[in-house]
Amino acid sequence: MHQADALLTSTLESWLPDAAVNQNEATEAYRQFHRYGQHPSVIRSGRVVTGVTHEDGTRKFLLRHLDGRETESVIMPIEGRSGRVRQTLCLSSQVGCAMGCTFCQTATMGRVRNLTTAEIVAQWHHATHELEAQITNLVFMGMGEPMDNLDAVLCAIEVLTDHNAASIPPSRIGVSTVGHADGIRRFTEFMQREGMHQLRLAVSINAPNDTIRSEIMPVNRAVPMDMLRETLIEWIQAGGRPVLLEYVLIPTVNDTTAHAEELATWVGDLPCRLNIIPYNPILDSPWPAPQEGDVTQFIEVANAAGLVVNRRQTRGRNVMAACGQLSTASRRNR
Ligand code: SF4
Repeated sequence: MHQADALLTSTLESWLPDAAVNQNEATEAYRQFHRYGQHPSVIRSGRVVTGVTHEDGTRKFLLRHLDGRETESVIMPIEGRSGRVRQTLCLSSQVGCAMGCTFCQTATMGRVRNLTTAEIVAQWHHATHELEAQITNLVFMGMGEPMDNLDAVLCAIEVLTDHNAASIPPSRIGVSTVGHADGIRRFTEFMQREGMHQLRLAVSINAPNDTIRSEIMPVNRAVPMDMLRETLIEWIQAGGRPVLLEYVLIPTVNDTTAHAEELATWVGDLPCRLNIIPYNPILDSPWPAPQEGDVTQFIEVANAAGLVVNRRQTRGRNVMAACGQLSTASRRNR
């Protein structure tokens, strides 16, 4: 393995035994590499940022990996409740995705391959040291289904939370899944490790019942909503934080007030927050973006039915950096 990749893949503890220098020098080299990007092997790593696009503060960048494959990552400024703006980096975990969600641009690529831990951590490294973004939060919501590549994702979380590396607190790291039951159970076990209790779990729910969900998310045929809810209850019972339910609001599919009420019934007493994401039309989309009035009405009815609802700001729509719109530029051009 190239030395840069060995550094991107290791916590300080796991890297030290291989370093052919004394412990102090090795510790210093590790910190310099992660904190300041100062290591000669960065230059030789061969991974390059090939394109950066901007819109309303959002920056999307393409990272070309050693085999020429590219992934997209997005840096989003998001204002918290205190008014402080945080820089959230949306990480990809795969090249393409096998899950086939019908509203998602990445799905059109199919799964090309999993990313390695080094390729996941490299997205943070390039965002921080090349694009000079001060990343405060991480979400695995880019290209790919993180639970489909969970070994690499969990290893990346260990490196990204390492105090000698990125030092991102687990409370600021979220993993988003389509509802992969085995993956959620493994992630629940990982969350119970010392220091990891504050990790966040997000689930793309996107529908109020199995009929609609199976139409737009094929995974629902294997893991129907009741089974999914059981895994979320297990997460909560194991001490996990309230779940974030992501709901892409798609006109004529899942956007009526009856759908909002049905969703609230399914949620019941599950501790969660609902994040409404107005649909961002992908290329050749059969659906438009929703009307503002319909979004507001859905949120009001969901609120009245007892759900805690946020609305995700739609950023980067014109640079195809918004939720569900990631795929590589070369693919889009084709
Ligand atoms: S929404 Fe997520 S899981 Fe579904 S196809 Fe897109 S990238 Fe894959």
